[in-house]
Amino acid sequence: MALAHSLGFPRIGRDRELKKALEGYWQGQLNEAQLREVGQQLRAEHWRVQAEQGLDLLPVGDFHWYDQVLTHSLMFNVIPERFAGQPAGLDTLFSMARGVSQRCCGGTQAQEMTKWFDTNYHYLVPEFAVDQQFSLNWTQLFDEVAEAQALGHQVKPVLIGPLTYLWLGKSKGAAFDRLELLERLLPVYGEILHKLAEQGVQWVQLDEPILALDLPASWKAAFERAYHLLQSSPCQKLVATYFGALDDNLGLATSLPVNGLHVDLVRAPEQLPALLDRLPSYKVLSLGVVNGRNIWRCDLDRALEHLAQAHERFADNLWVAPSCSLLHSPVDLTREDRLDDELLSWLAFAVQKCAEVALLAKAVNQPADVQVQAQLRTSRSALARRAGSPRIHKPAVAARLAAITASDSQRASPYATRAQAQRAALALPLLPTTTIGSFPQTADIRQARQQFKAGVLDAQGYQQAMQAEIAHAVRVQEELGLDVLVHGEAERNDMVEYFAELIDGYAFTRFGWVQSYGSRCVKPPLIVGDLHRPAPMTVEWISYAQSLTSKPMKGMLTGPVTMLVWSFPREDVSREVQAQQLALALRDEVVDLEQAGIGIVQIDEAAFREGLPLRQAQWGRYLHWATEAFRLTASGVKDSTQIHTHMCYSEFNDVIESIAAMDADVITIETSRSQMELLEAFRGFAYPNEIGPGVYDIHSPRVPTVAEMQALLERAAELIPLQRLWVNPDCGLKTRAWPETLEALRNMQAATEALRLKW
Ligand code: GLN
Ligand code: ZN
Repeated sequence: MALAHSLGFPRIGRDRELKKALEGYWQGQLNEAQLREVGQQLRAEHWRVQAEQGLDLLPVGDFHWYDQVLTHSLMFNVIPERFAGQPAGLDTLFSMARGVSQRCCGGTQAQEMTKWFDTNYHYLVPEFAVDQQFSLNWTQLFDEVAEAQALGHQVKPVLIGPLTYLWLGKSKGAAFDRLELLERLLPVYGEILHKLAEQGVQWVQLDEPILALDLPASWKAAFERAYHLLQSSPCQKLVATYFGALDDNLGLATSLPVNGLHVDLVRAPEQLPALLDRLPSYKVLSLGVVNGRNIWRCDLDRALEHLAQAHERFADNLWVAPSCSLLHSPVDLTREDRLDDELLSWLAFAVQKCAEVALLAKAVNQPADVQVQAQLRTSRSALARRAGSPRIHKPAVAARLAAITASDSQRASPYATRAQAQRAALALPLLPTTTIGSFPQTADIRQARQQFKAGVLDAQGYQQAMQAEIAHAVRVQEELGLDVLVHGEAERNDMVEYFAELIDGYAFTRFGWVQSYGSRCVKPPLIVGDLHRPAPMTVEWISYAQSLTSKPMKGMLTGPVTMLVWSFPREDVSREVQAQQLALALRDEVVDLEQAGIGIVQIDEAAFREGLPLRQAQWGRYLHWATEAFRLTASGVKDSTQIHTHMCYSEFNDVIESIAAMDADVITIETSRSQMELLEAFRGFAYPNEIGPGVYDIHSPRVPTVAEMQALLERAAELIPLQRLWVNPDCGLKTRAWPETLEALRNMQAATEALRLKW
C-alpha cells in the first residue's frame, strides 16, 4: 500500500493564533503557561486536521515557537556565549531570536536571520565556536511525540539533518571549517534517535535540503561519513530533499545507508527516471508531487502518472507527499469567505493539499474506487475550466507580448549621452541628496486606510488625508534641503500589494498568511491570469506631490521582478512570461509619469537577488530574463528622463554584471552596515552609471552623526567618481518615526554640504 504523509504543517494557525499568542506573551499579556496552552491546542488541531484529510503518517517536530533552526540550536545546546548565563527555557529562545534591549548598555544582539533557501521564510543562523560542544538540551521533540501518541496518532518525527544544520550555521571567532564539528554533533543525533525509538517511533525524517545545492566535495564526502555513523542508530530514516533537483548529488543521495528518500518532483520532475533507476527498491521512495509552495490545485493526473511509474517498481515502498513542508503555503482555503466559487475551485491551501496527497495515495492503491474516480473528475474539470477561462488568457496581453522587439528593452542612447541630457534637465548639485521612497507610516495613516476599507471614510476623505500626508512630506523635505524629493508612499499599504490591486489579473485572499519569521507573516497576492494595467496607478499622487514643489519629484514604482517574486505565481506559464507582462504594465506607468512632467522615476527591485535559482547553472537564464524585464519597464522614456532603481541587500559580487546590464541611470543600495565595503564590487567591475550608497541604516532608530556619514561618504568617494555619487539612506523610512527621521536626514544633508564645500 502506498502511504500518504506530510513533511510538515504550518504552525501559525488558520487565524494566526500563534502570532497573536507570541505577541501577547512578549507584551506581558499572556504568561508562559497560557502561551504553551495555545501551542498545544494548535498542535492537536493540526494533527487532527491532517488525520481527517487522510494522511497515514503525521509529522511531529514541525511546531516551533519561533523557527525550526533555532529549536535545533537549543536542542543541541548551541547557545552563543552572550546568552549562556540564562536557563534553557522559552525566554532564552526568544532572546536568541529577538535580542535583549537594555537601556543602560546596548543590550544583547539577536542571532542573525537569513532566508531559508529560495523561500521568503527566514531562519536564525546558528553560531558555532571553534571549541563548540553539543549536548541534548531540549525535550520539546520528545514531549510532542508523547503528546501526539496520547492523541492516538501515528507519527514521524522531523529533524533537520546534521549536514544541513551545520551548513546553515556560521563559524564565529577564530576562522575554522564548521564541517569539523560533525563528529561532535553526530552523537547527539544518535542519542535523539535512541530516545525516539524508546518512545516507539519507527520512522524519522531527516531534512537535508542542501542536497539540492551545489555542494563542495568535502560536504558530499561528509554525507557518506555521517550517515554511515548514524546507520547503527535505531529508527528507520527517511532523508528528505526539496526545493530542487538532486542533479550531481543524486548518486550520493540514493546510496546513503538510510531507509528512504524524499524528493521534490514539483520543482524537478525530470529526475524521476534516474531515481527509479538508482534507488534500490527495498528503500522507501517518497515522491513530493503536491506543490508545498504555491496555492494552486494539483494536477492530479500528472502526479498519478509519476506515481504509477514509481509504484511499478517500489510497490509498498512508495510514499506520497507534498513537495516540501507545507510551512510555505497558507493554512485553510475554507477560511476564505470572499473569493468567488470559480477561483476557489482552482486553489488548495495546506489542509486541501493534505487531502490531495491522501487522494493520490488512494488512487494508487485502489484505482477503481468510485469515490476516488469522482474526486479525480472534479479536480480534472476544475483544471480544464481554468485552462479555458478568459480570466486567465487574454488575447490582447498575449498579442502585446508577442510584439515585443529587442529595441523595446533598450534606452534610446547609452548612459553617457543620457547623463548629459539629464544634467541639463535636472540641474542637480554635486552629490545630490534623496531618500528611497517611503516616509513614516504613522498610526494616523494606517487608521485612515482602515476607515476607508471599512467604509467609514469615503474616497474623497481618504484622498484628502493622503494628500495632507504627501504635502507634509514635501514640506519637510524642502525644509531639510534635499535635492530630489519623494511623495512618501503614504497611500501604499505595501509596495507589492498596492500595485497588485491596480493590475488586472491579480487576486487577493483574506487569510492566506504564510510565516515569514517568528510571529511575522506575509499575505502574497495571487497572480491568477494574464496581467495588464487598466489605468494609471500612481500618476495622480505623484503629480499632486510635484505640484507642491519646484524641486524634482521622483516617481516611485515596484519593479516587475519584485512584483513576481513576492506574489504566488501562476504555474501554467513561466516566471519569465509573468515578468514580461508585469514589465509592460509598469512600462506604461513610467511613460505616463514622464508625460505628466515627472523627470525621475525609481523602479524598486528589492527582490531581484531573491529570485536567483539555488543552482548556479541556472543563474544565467534567470538573470537574463530578470534584467530584460527591468529594461523593458524602463526603456519607454526619453534620454532626459532619469531612471533609478533600488536594491536593499548587500551581496552584489556575484550579480554585478547583471546589475550593470539593467542600465538604470542611478542605483541606490544598502551599504552603511558594511562600511561601504560592497562598493568594491562596483568599482572592481568598473560600474558605469551613478550610485547612491546608503549612508545610514534605517533598520535602527539610532540617529547617525554628521561625522559618521561624512566618513562613509569619503570612503565611497575613494571608490566611485564624485560625479556619479548620490547621497541617501539605505532603504525606505516607513518603519521609522518622524523625530529620528528628521534628525537623521538633517545630519545627512549637513554631511553632504560639508563635503560639497570641501570638494
Ligand atoms: N520605495 C520603497 C520604500 O521606500 C522601497 C522599499 C524596499 O526597498 N524594500 O519603502
Ligand atoms: Zn530597500
